[in-house]
Amino acid sequence: MSSETMENSGTSLVKGSKRQRLWKKVKYQLVEYHMLPGYLRDNEYIVGHYRSEWPLKQVLLSIFSIHNETLNVWTHLIGFFLFLSLTIYTAMKIPKVVDLHTLHFPDVLKKADLHKLQEELLTSLPSLPNLPDLHRLREELKTWHILELFYNCLPERFSHANHTDVCVLMGTGRQCERSMKEDVANIIAPLMLTPITRWPFFAFLGGAMFCLLASSTCHLLSCHSERVSYIMLRLDYAGIAALISTSFYPPVYYSFMCNPFFCNLYMGFITLLGITTIMVSLLPVFQTPGFRSIRASLFFGMGLSGVLPIMHKLVMFWDQPEALHTTGYEILMGALYGIGALVYATRIPERWMPGKFDIAGHSHQLFHVLVVAGAYTHYRAGLVYLKWRDLEGC
Ligand SMILES: [Zn+2]
Repeated sequence: MSSETMENSGTSLVKGSKRQRLWKKVKYQLVEYHMLPGYLRDNEYIVGHYRSEWPLKQVLLSIFSIHNETLNVWTHLIGFFLFLSLTIYTAMKIPKVVDLHTLHFPDVLKKADLHKLQEELLTSLPSLPNLPDLHRLREELKTWHILELFYNCLPERFSHANHTDVCVLMGTGRQCERSMKEDVANIIAPLMLTPITRWPFFAFLGGAMFCLLASSTCHLLSCHSERVSYIMLRLDYAGIAALISTSFYPPVYYSFMCNPFFCNLYMGFITLLGITTIMVSLLPVFQTPGFRSIRASLFFGMGLSGVLPIMHKLVMFWDQPEALHTTGYEILMGALYGIGALVYATRIPERWMPGKFDIAGHSHQLFHVLVVAGAYTHYRAGLVYLKWRDLEGC
């Protein structure tokens, strides 16, 4: 009997809108683990608060109600919006700094040299060494956004001589004259090298957004029917494979961009491995419990293969602080994903107190938060790579 027929017969039996609402409430109440159909049984330590085979409308609306998947849906939905914001921020903010490079610059200053820039500024602004905030300026000279800072501020020296130093130090002064700004940009911008391509970084951001949105959708809709659950699980696997594959792109590309052989080798390898993992997880036979460990090993192997290019990077650039800095982030990311996988596999803490963590605090929610934290760590590492390559080139 379809849900509509059941509702119609319900309306004819009980009259009045109040009784009708009560009927619906009873029909779509949360159930316990032992009442679930086989395909929805996954974790016996989560005892209650399950949605089971609800109509699509009720399933979609359940994003705003409390059940044992609410936090699983929201942790990755919030993660998705976090990465969407980071993508928009990166696309808008970071090219703004390097757009200045498209101007014409004197050949004399082709090579990036921040120490030289600092020296030049100190000699061209003789009043600066006497200021108490000189140390802060020196620190700011080392930061990535230095070009933007000076682009905005330095010309005020020419138009409002008395306020120059304050303007430089405080990072304010937005009303600089256009021609003056361009003059200064022409002097300073050549000290930075031409920016390198951003596509590997955006590929990672795209992979992260796809993974988080696919996971969130999977947790919301899987309880609808066996068919939807089957499709959603595959979408979830594809999302994980996409996140792992695209996570390789920034470190591999920016580490080996000056060495095309290794760059192509690693990029090709991880892309092939990612596509293979997605194809393999689409095969119906891989859904069977017997293949669960093989699927898990495939994802684990993908992640583990990242150790090789990272070690290679360390050997090649052992004397560069950026290589150590990014490796630090990569170790942190590995630890966050590793703890996430451990929590996921051991089903801690709900196995200690079954039923106590149904709504909040069970392992899958902790796993989701750790995945978002790991991906964010990787985003920060990506910014270090961009800064490094923008300044150093090959
Ligand atoms: Zn999940």
